Amino acid sequence: MSAEIWVFAEQRRGALAPVALELLTEGRVLAEKSGYTLCAVLLSAGDDDIPQELFRYGAEKVYRLADPALAEFNNDLYAPALWNLIEKEMPEIVLYGATAVGRTLAPTVAVMGYAGLTADCTELDFDTEKNILLQTRPAFGGNIMATITCENHRPQMATVRANVFKKEPLENPAGDEVVEVPVDTGGHGDRMKRVESVQEVAEDVDLNAAQFIVSGGRGVGKPENFKIIHELAEELEGAVGASRATVDAGWISHHHQVGQTGKTVCPVVYIACGISGAIQHLAGMQSSDVIIAINKDPNAPIFDVADFGLVGDLHEIVPEFTRQIREI
Ligand code: FAD
Repeated sequence: MSAEIWVFAEQRRGALAPVALELLTEGRVLAEKSGYTLCAVLLSAGDDDIPQELFRYGAEKVYRLADPALAEFNNDLYAPALWNLIEKEMPEIVLYGATAVGRTLAPTVAVMGYAGLTADCTELDFDTEKNILLQTRPAFGGNIMATITCENHRPQMATVRANVFKKEPLENPAGDEVVEVPVDTGGHGDRMKRVESVQEVAEDVDLNAAQFIVSGGRGVGKPENFKIIHELAEELEGAVGASRATVDAGWISHHHQVGQTGKTVCPVVYIACGISGAIQHLAGMQSSDVIIAINKDPNAPIFDVADFGLVGDLHEIVPEFTRQIREI
């Protein structure tokens, strides 16, 4: 068994998914605590310089499985190829982003190896006494945060939501070892035929990239009132977020939803307007650098996580906020 932590380096069209770099950044903390070696596993066509980027974010070693057939994600090929390598090297921990790819690949690999898998984690830690990975995720509809451990079986595997960790490159990366691994799909054939790849058309919102997010909740009152939320976001060159209550009411599209069943975001500033602060909403935004809450109820739970709070009517405060920013 290798005393290694592996991060699945998810790539699409030769570009790394940001969550892979977030996991490497957090992996450095886990490696420090556990004494394990931090590695990345890359499945790709092999005509890229992704390993250099993985080293920049802390990988000490990169296992690369290169084959033109692995250029795009195909579970029929990725899962057996990855599992065969895991079975040979038996790392202690394997982490995947909780993306569409990670959520497909990780359970298939877990089934192949009769391994456990904790899905959709929002926090990771390492228990140095028991030498075990602590995997935390919302449970019972988000009403509790459950910390799950894998006592006996190895590897310990988890998918982790995007944006719960920040990605930070190293100033002086130390890793440079690329291990070229022959691709072995164990005779598994490709049962899928790719008919067409369609690139998602970006909406007007890119909550993941926005530095400022202005989010509206039920306190906004009605769909037309979202105009003031949009105006403030525009003034800040930010994006508009929303609580699920407003999405369910049809006031705004699901692309804007922040929270457990929406997007996880970590902007520099998150402004919550008329949002009560339910645990499912907090799960998606509480790692923002600065949280500003506007709510007419001084006891609203959002104030427990807010760095700055304004108690009052958002219909007065938000337009005034916008007006003052315009004057700067
Ligand atoms: P409310 O809870 O109704 O709060 C409205 C707030 O607006 C109140 O605090 C009120 O004081 C304030 N207010 C009213 N009028 C004004 C005014 N004029 N000025 C200022 N303040 C005002 N929720 C999410 O957001 N994201 C999720 O991803 C999500 N996932 C969920 C998953 C599950 C399984 C479940 C069970 C729930 C989920 N929820 C999610 C729903 C969550 O529990 C809450 O119901 C929801 O977040 C409430 O939205 P809200 O804060 O906009 O509304």
